[in-house]
Amino acid sequence: MTDTHDPLLTLEAALQRMLSDVLPLPAVEVPVDELLGSVLAADIRALHTLPPWDDSAMDGYAVRAADVATATHDSPVSLRVVGEVAAGHMATASVMPGTAIRILTGAMLPPGADAVVRVEDTDAPAGVAALPDRVAINVAAVTGTSVRPAGSDVRAGDLVLAAGSDLAAHRVGAIVAAGHGVASVHRRPRVAILSTGDELMPPGARLRGAQIPDSSSVALSAQVRDAGGQPVALGIARDDRPDIVARLHRGIEDADIVVASGGVSVGAHDEVRLAFEEVGHIDLWRVAIQPGKPLAFGRARDQGGRQVQLFGLPGNPVSSFVTFELFVRPLIRRMAGHVDLVGRTIVRARLANAVRTDQGRRAYLRVRLAQDAQGQWLASLAGGQGSHMLSGLAAADGLAIVPQGIGELDAGVEVDVISFGPGSQAYPPVVA
Ligand code: AMP
Ligand code: MG
Repeated sequence: MTDTHDPLLTLEAALQRMLSDVLPLPAVEVPVDELLGSVLAADIRALHTLPPWDDSAMDGYAVRAADVATATHDSPVSLRVVGEVAAGHMATASVMPGTAIRILTGAMLPPGADAVVRVEDTDAPAGVAALPDRVAINVAAVTGTSVRPAGSDVRAGDLVLAAGSDLAAHRVGAIVAAGHGVASVHRRPRVAILSTGDELMPPGARLRGAQIPDSSSVALSAQVRDAGGQPVALGIARDDRPDIVARLHRGIEDADIVVASGGVSVGAHDEVRLAFEEVGHIDLWRVAIQPGKPLAFGRARDQGGRQVQLFGLPGNPVSSFVTFELFVRPLIRRMAGHVDLVGRTIVRARLANAVRTDQGRRAYLRVRLAQDAQGQWLASLAGGQGSHMLSGLAAADGLAIVPQGIGELDAGVEVDVISFGPGSQAYPPVVA
């Protein structure tokens, strides 16, 4: 086992060891309504052309542009209305010289027509109305006016989304539009979560004596979902090695990653590292970060020989949050097929407060972010910075990084902040 006197690993060295042999999980076919947050394992190509035919961009009248080339409000062109075509219906009549067909948005352009005049540019009533015998056209049109050409969105065979694309909400619709009901994505890693501690009680329970709520099971499972994994609950183990080992075994059989919290430091009841050695082995312990130094990482194999990653996060809830963010999140994202393992916006901000950190470790301070009148980001300490203070974490917008070897920073110094609200940097501006 790693000795307490070994020098602390840097975050980079620890991450490199954790990620060294971790690959994206194999592809699975997933129904389109469950794709959100997954990563495509194969290219998506259009199965058909869309729109399939020239169609109308407007509610109005399909015309021959040559018929209405001179139309103005003062000198409208009158056309005979010979029919109607709505979205979802085939055109039954053709537009012959001197005639028009009433058309609705998305309807197929009838034969003979080459332009559409908006209903607002005619004398016909807008909205629900009986089909008129004639329509006066008040505005000239040219070939193609208000017509969406066939294939103007995609053509059959076009690449719509490449393998590796992150299926955020703005991308899933295009897969369905391209004709697919399922898509091939990397399986989402299953992440088993175990809390350890005699003091822990389930959420909402009435506390007696020396008890506190087990906040980390819920917080870590939210972090798993946010990172693109599927949480698996292993419950609360007492500070008792056989109990911890039994639950770890369940997690190893059922998940790709097992995340235990608590019991990983140097206390007399810190059984988690010993339990890891029983179910597998420890690869590293203790990283030069604040909070979160006593982080442990190891590996085990299930009964079929499949490798499972083991994380022992520190018990203090802010420490478990930060170490999950820095180490477990990238591993989940790698397994889920992401190329960008961080998936966060990094905001460059000036410190609003002077800060003091442990020189021997890179520090992650809980900060609020606000923009000044010039658009410069300002990071101010969010509540208490103690690693037991979830109130401070809850008040924060991100984690400000203070490099190792610095110790003290004056107000006004620029730092990088890991923002919990990706994209907030660009739009919309947040003003304090
Ligand atoms: P430990 O690492 O087990 O010594 O725990 C360090 C501190 O974190 C102690 O104050 C624990 O009560 C607290 N703690 C450990 N696990 C949890 C948890 N799941 N939820 C809330 N607090 C916890
Ligand atoms: Mg404990």
